[in-house]
Amino acid sequence: MKDLYADIIVDISQEKLDKTFQYLVPKELEFEIEEGKKVRIPFGNGGREITGYVVGLSSEPKIEADRIKPILAVEEQGMEIESRLISLAAWIARNYGSTMNQALKTVLPVKEKAAARERKFISLKADPKVCGGLLNEYARRHYRAKERLMRALLQKKILEYSSAIKEMKISPEVVKGFEKEGLVCIERERCYRTPLPKTIQAEKAAVLNEEQQLAVRKILEEWDSKAPRPCLIKGVTGSGKTEVYMELIRYVLEQGRQVILLIPEIALTYQNVSRFYARFGEKVSLIHSRMSQGERYDQFERAKEGKISVMIGPRSALFTPFPKLGLILIDEEHEDSYKSEKTPCYHARETAIQRGKMEGAYVVMGSASPSVESYYKARTGDYLLACLEQRYGGSSLPAVSIVDLREELKTGNRSVFSGRLTGKIQERLKKKEQVILFLNRRGYSGFVTCRSCGHVMKCPHCDVSLTAHRNGRLICHYCGYETMDVQKCPVCGSPYIGGFRAGTQQIESLVLKSFPGAKVLRMDADTTRKKDDHEKILSAFGRGEADILIGTQMIVKGHDFPRVTLVGVLAADLSLCSGDYRAGEKTFQLLLQAVGRAGRGERPGEAVIQTYHPDHYCIQAAAAQDYDWFYQEEMDYRSLMDYPPRAAMAAVRGAGKEEELLVRAMDYCRKYIERIYPGKDLTLIGPAPESVAKVQDMYRRVLYMRHQDREILVRIKNALEKYIEVNRGFRNIYIQYDFTV
Ligand code: ADP
Ligand code: ZN
Ligand code: ZN
Repeated sequence: MKDLYADIIVDISQEKLDKTFQYLVPKELEFEIEEGKKVRIPFGNGGREITGYVVGLSSEPKIEADRIKPILAVEEQGMEIESRLISLAAWIARNYGSTMNQALKTVLPVKEKAAARERKFISLKADPKVCGGLLNEYARRHYRAKERLMRALLQKKILEYSSAIKEMKISPEVVKGFEKEGLVCIERERCYRTPLPKTIQAEKAAVLNEEQQLAVRKILEEWDSKAPRPCLIKGVTGSGKTEVYMELIRYVLEQGRQVILLIPEIALTYQNVSRFYARFGEKVSLIHSRMSQGERYDQFERAKEGKISVMIGPRSALFTPFPKLGLILIDEEHEDSYKSEKTPCYHARETAIQRGKMEGAYVVMGSASPSVESYYKARTGDYLLACLEQRYGGSSLPAVSIVDLREELKTGNRSVFSGRLTGKIQERLKKKEQVILFLNRRGYSGFVTCRSCGHVMKCPHCDVSLTAHRNGRLICHYCGYETMDVQKCPVCGSPYIGGFRAGTQQIESLVLKSFPGAKVLRMDADTTRKKDDHEKILSAFGRGEADILIGTQMIVKGHDFPRVTLVGVLAADLSLCSGDYRAGEKTFQLLLQAVGRAGRGERPGEAVIQTYHPDHYCIQAAAAQDYDWFYQEEMDYRSLMDYPPRAAMAAVRGAGKEEELLVRAMDYCRKYIERIYPGKDLTLIGPAPESVAKVQDMYRRVLYMRHQDREILVRIKNALEKYIEVNRGFRNIYIQYDFTV
């Protein structure tokens, strides 16, 4: 039998992650050794014994075999958190395609060279009587600064250094002088940066209503079973999913275990986070993407040391190094942001389930419109399903109507506001109620549609929208099918062919023109450049400083505006035709969320959806706010086309500066895969140009693979990785793997 070698890291600091040392795995340890194991090894010339972590295994020695020293022993003291995270990294590298080093960098917190910030305190040392005498002395001599400082010290005994200097306007020299005279001493305390304000009022647990209790009971029962499944909570907006989460968190904390709560970055608002803080106090912390590496590292350290037990954050919070993780909650589980766009392209949902499995932690996901993949798993019994059908307090869901934009065109109305929407906005302005106008631009990529009949130019092979390119051609981004730009609609012959090109800024000026006197706020990428812009706009709207809020998908997420009674969706179709098999799902989800913003207060809400596709099931199901209707139709489409979740799909994405080389390399990929897996059960689509075919002078192409069994795709990926590594045709070509499910 061949010898087995282990790559071992001895220092888990970020810079040194790729510095590994190879050791021989003794035969008697071969069974036990795996990625993540902590081992004892002889190190350096003296052979000093130290510990390290196994991060890779191979049968190839990197230097002469007889110079490689053997591992001495496997450390037995259970699996430490580092070990567990390293084996999670190994799972990520294998299942999503990346090097171990890339996976480790994803999973392990970044250590920053600068030490955590220190807080300094000035503490009174000398006898208060002596100090009292000094105080009088200072006053007499008009030593104002000394007087202020001494008076404060006599009162409080201890002062925080920086605020003393700033607020009391005292120079550091004065403090130093006191220190020299032995009146005070400077104390230091290592201080972790906590991102939450201390001013939030504590709050008691809510009393759950019947439906919420039922959901909790169902989930706790599942947790009591031998092999608890992941749970999916499907609950309409406002049904109290968050209250259910809090009850589950309370339960897990009582067991002395910790909780990770994943929230999409965009919903990581003060309003949302403070609810948890109010309930669980200082045990709660958060991370977000605007934090510096050092700040995140601090938070992870606090988690490891047991100073906090609930971590709230986006995707990357999943890797919080809690020693006894009990629960991972994923709110809005259908959100795209849970999938990493950088290699490794891991999905936080599946990775959470894997981490849960490895550490014995429960996983609970929630959404008002679950991803088709998750709902499929819930329906087939892989997940437990718990439903919340009613809004808390019984407020009714908004009444939704659909406006057919083709009819508007026929009656000569070419404005972006239909007659009905205009009327309803005027009504609201009169009644001093608020309006949200939602411009759906997600994934908008220049599809082409007939404005008379609504026909969208589609790929005859893939049933997704074709995308217009500058060269006047329409292209399918799955299979590469191309056709000339159309001048006349193939269905009705109308010459009104085009896209919907209005942006939020244009909408804003149109609103101001159509509704003079209305106060308008706009929220889009342009108005939210700075850190707090988001929050500022939303709270201004919340305070009633504007009548109308215009925005893209950012405005539809998790905010309660009780005075909003009308939501207008200006062009529901934009995301319907993004040239992606998920377009329908994304559209349905966005519309459902947008519509759900109306009528969250006392007054009932209403929504108007303007569309060129009034008969499309996504639009109709969203208007009816009927998820199951949408799901049935969507699954029919996915089954027919063999899209996930019916089959697993993975993309091989290539990028390169020279188009010709890239095209050739991607063709090699396809040929190689056909050679190693000739089975008819594998479908290859492409390679085709990506929907954005060139980014920063890099051309991009994609090859899709589809198979019933994800594991087959993983194996093909593994073989392809090796092939690419040794093949010269791939020099200067960047390959990325992207598993859809
Ligand atoms: P979701 O997360 O499902 O959209 P939330 O948890 O935000 O719903 O609940 C909507 C509103 O109803 C919130 O203001 C919340 O405080 C309130 N609410 C929900 N359940 C309860 C409860 N059991 N007791 C008191 N208030 C509740
Ligand atoms: Zn037409
Ligand atoms: Zn196609």
